[in-house]
Amino acid sequence: HQLPPNSIIVAHDLSPADAAQIKREDVLGIVTDVGGRTSHTAIMARSLKIPAVTGMEKISRMVQTGDTIVVDGSTGIVILNPDPEMIFRYRQRHDVFRNYQQSLMAFGRLPAVTRDGNRSVRITANIELVDEMDIALNHGCEGIGLFRTEYLFLGRSDLPSEQEQYEAYRRVLEYNRPKPVTIRTLDVGGDKIATSLNLPQETNPAMGLRAIRLCLSYREIFQTQLRAILRAACHGNCRLMIPMISCMSEILTTKSIINHVKAELTAEGIEFCNDYKIGILVEVPSAAAIADLLAREVDFFSIGTNDLIQYALAIDRVNEHVNYLYDTLHPAVLRLIKHVVNAGQARGIDVSMCGEMAGDPVNIPILIALGINELSMNALSIPIVKKLIRSITLEECLELTDQAFRMQEADEIHAFLESWITERFPKDYFLNNS
Ligand code: PEP
Ligand code: MG
Repeated sequence: HQLPPNSIIVAHDLSPADAAQIKREDVLGIVTDVGGRTSHTAIMARSLKIPAVTGMEKISRMVQTGDTIVVDGSTGIVILNPDPEMIFRYRQRHDVFRNYQQSLMAFGRLPAVTRDGNRSVRITANIELVDEMDIALNHGCEGIGLFRTEYLFLGRSDLPSEQEQYEAYRRVLEYNRPKPVTIRTLDVGGDKIATSLNLPQETNPAMGLRAIRLCLSYREIFQTQLRAILRAACHGNCRLMIPMISCMSEILTTKSIINHVKAELTAEGIEFCNDYKIGILVEVPSAAAIADLLAREVDFFSIGTNDLIQYALAIDRVNEHVNYLYDTLHPAVLRLIKHVVNAGQARGIDVSMCGEMAGDPVNIPILIALGINELSMNALSIPIVKKLIRSITLEECLELTDQAFRMQEADEIHAFLESWITERFPKDYFLNNS
């Protein structure tokens, strides 16, 4: 569709593939009936820096084309046909927010080291599209912690060829070189539907043929992607990441497929790189539980909290009716994360986090205290997260974490951390804008 300039999209649902087609210049905001904060449509909107509110239940039936709407993506407030005073107020709020963001940009260029110098964290960016690299670098990323390669497969009727994929991966690797780029293998299924694959509809897609499961049953597609990644790996610092691992055999089978692909490339005399790291997304509770076993097979873990929370708390991340239960600071989530970090550390492997949790300032003290090596997030969050890390001490983080781990309820932990951060950073505006 050709959208008129300054449009606000109001829809019952908007797929991640549709969201990826949006031109930032044309769209001022997005509002949908369905979805949640960590649905891929919301994540995509955040990457494009478009204010979005999802899960409004009936909004698409209330709005007419031509209406004026205020979309406050920071608080989730949507105002239909506001009066002039309200418009004035929100224009002001918009300017304050923009100036605040601008004032933070300088922090993006600094390293994320605690004030006492006792902890440092690598801050990387999540990207969906190759073109997002500029924004990511501009906000101060130190590499790419999650490249969601499935977007190469969405919104089209054919599959991307090995060469097309190779060129995309090579561009990202070369652009970031020598900084690391974590390329995640295809994660379609769930709310990301690749129409070209013509997959049957599932009753529970989030728990169905998704990610590595799909790749293991469609070997051709998987091998084509692996060939493209291994070839592109010659052009930068490549980390290969496998999504949705839920048991040992999946990683073992994946590694044997990689060996098969390498043998094939060697036989064909095609150049590829052997000097890459292989890791898994820890995002299924069963993988978190056996993290000690999985750690023996991989070079790194990246905790995917978007899915880990969805599966651990049994809350569909795209279901607006249960989204109120989706809580990053649920004691169960914190314990799972701690368990995974400890298992990684015991084996001496790198532990990152790339779910949306990593970019929310309120979680930072706990993540620092636990000793996570890398936080990968949407570009917009990088400057504020760096600022925050640079202002706190490890001791402070340990103390807060110790207290938080003794609490019983997510609400209690949330209130505790929120009041700490508001007191500690009273002048900062970001709390209303995460
Ligand atoms: C996650 O699950 O936390 C993650 C980073 O991957 P995605 O959001 O693409 O499922
Ligand atoms: Mg995931």
